[in-house]
Amino acid sequence: MSRKRHVIVGGGTAGLNAITTIREYDKGASDIVLVAEEWPYSRMVLPYYLGQSISESHVFTATAPRLAQLGVQFIRADRPVDPIFRALATQPQNDSPGPLGPDFVRRRASGLDTSNNLLKLDDGSSIEYDDLLIATGSSPTRPPIPGADGDAIYNQWTIDDSRGVLKDIKPGQDVAMIGAGFISFTILNAVLSHGVNLHIIEIMPQVLPRMIDNQGAEIVANLLRSRGVNIHTGVSVQSIEDDDGRKKLIMDGAADITVDLVIMGTGIRPNLGWLDASGLEIDQGIVVDNHLRSNVPNVYAAGDVAQGHELITGRKEVHAIEPTAMQHGRVVGANMTGKDISYEGSLLMNILDVQDLDVASFGSWNVPDAETSVMANPKNNTYRKLVWDGDKIIGGIILGPARGIWTTNDIGMLKGLVQSQVKLGPWKKYLQENLWDIKRPFVANHVTNTMLSVTTLDHPTVPAREISATGAGGGASDKDGEVVD
Ligand SMILES: Cc1cc2nc3c(=O)[nH]c(=O)nc-3n(C[C@H](O)[C@H](O)[C@H](O)COP(=O)(O)OP(=O)(O)OC[C@H]3O[C@@H](n4cnc5c(N)ncnc54)[C@H](O)[C@@H]3O)c2cc1C
Repeated sequence: MSRKRHVIVGGGTAGLNAITTIREYDKGASDIVLVAEEWPYSRMVLPYYLGQSISESHVFTATAPRLAQLGVQFIRADRPVDPIFRALATQPQNDSPGPLGPDFVRRRASGLDTSNNLLKLDDGSSIEYDDLLIATGSSPTRPPIPGADGDAIYNQWTIDDSRGVLKDIKPGQDVAMIGAGFISFTILNAVLSHGVNLHIIEIMPQVLPRMIDNQGAEIVANLLRSRGVNIHTGVSVQSIEDDDGRKKLIMDGAADITVDLVIMGTGIRPNLGWLDASGLEIDQGIVVDNHLRSNVPNVYAAGDVAQGHELITGRKEVHAIEPTAMQHGRVVGANMTGKDISYEGSLLMNILDVQDLDVASFGSWNVPDAETSVMANPKNNTYRKLVWDGDKIIGGIILGPARGIWTTNDIGMLKGLVQSQVKLGPWKKYLQENLWDIKRPFVANHVTNTMLSVTTLDHPTVPAREISATGAGGGASDKDGEVVD
């Protein structure tokens, strides 16, 4: 019998977790072909690279020897399905510039013929697959602001973007961040660590408009103002003009400002353009069922590009967060090996450290007319909001000092209460009257026990170092990370 060929498009979080999971189950019994425009790395780690607390090599999630150990074939321009890993495995691993080397060819998937099981590549070649995973993630979008495509204007989505900012950013400069959403805020501490004067410009009336409510956002904005950050909300940038080597931002709703560097954080959208003629059902993303299959049974989608079930509402949504990409990847990987793993759905969650203020939200935190319980103490930057459905918490927001163990623990416990959907019974009233004490209802309702039995793949996590194409494992470095639930 010929070996099954799994083709994975995209080597980010979802793609790499799928690969590792396939090997966890089949121990090398199939062929895996990876088509990837970038070498596997974690975008979520980029803020630490940008803040120079880790070196560039730590951004990558798989070294060449690790991919070889997993028996992954890479795509190469001259011989489309050549096992490039052989060449890469002999390549020296330097600390910089990371594992991207002369043998790595950026190769894009450019089309899909689902009737003939053919993935088309941008060099005109195609690869036949038995099953296919689309894990192409998202790309940043820019509003049509005249001048927004000039030099010294960066997105903050890829490692190349981080390299660009690191090359240009200097202490004492003025830096504008256009867009005050979650991604912008993931790099905020890193940008400030370079000793710059930061201007944040947001078209909506508050910062973090899709992550927290207005009351929480006020606390965040005031803290940032107290640290010297200029916040302009309800303001839009009309155009960006060159001004004697600097950038002049023409604003609507505030005075114009001139800066040295501009960082755009104005949203992302899933990479779907190449699938136009594929016959896949596409809405906000590729619509998938609870096995993460598209409407074509041997084509799966995972991560930012997939529109799958959300845990609390059951609605199909694109989440564009790391935990969803990781869980999707693992479920797809298992199903590609013939397992029958059904996915319960992903919990929407965002967690940030904003200048030592923990900011977190979970689930359905923004349901109009829902019953809520709120505790606010802006003087010490504390804010909590719980959203109820009967005696279950379906969403929540927590803000509090990051250095206090109290906030950090409560963030974890609130996540547990939302994720487990435990019915709190009489503990609802207690919590409503004692919003600062999440621990007692958490412990009394055995949420830890409930959560311990919840695993993505119906069994405890297998450490990545124990997974390989030979089933032997070993040799994988800490840098390869662990596959965790
Ligand atoms: C700076 C930053 C900080 C973040 N911080 C957090 C955080 O704290 N918490 C959180 O939950 N999320 C965070 N995220 C979001 C998180 O990184 C993404 O949700 C996650 O990377 C999605 O994984 P993915 O595998 O779906 O896509 P990606 O990781 O984006 O991988 C997709 C891969 O597919 C490749 N590709 C695209 N099109 C093609 C094609 N046609 N052919 C071949 N290859 C292709 C891309 O080059 C890419 O390598 C952050 C993102 C950024 C940029």
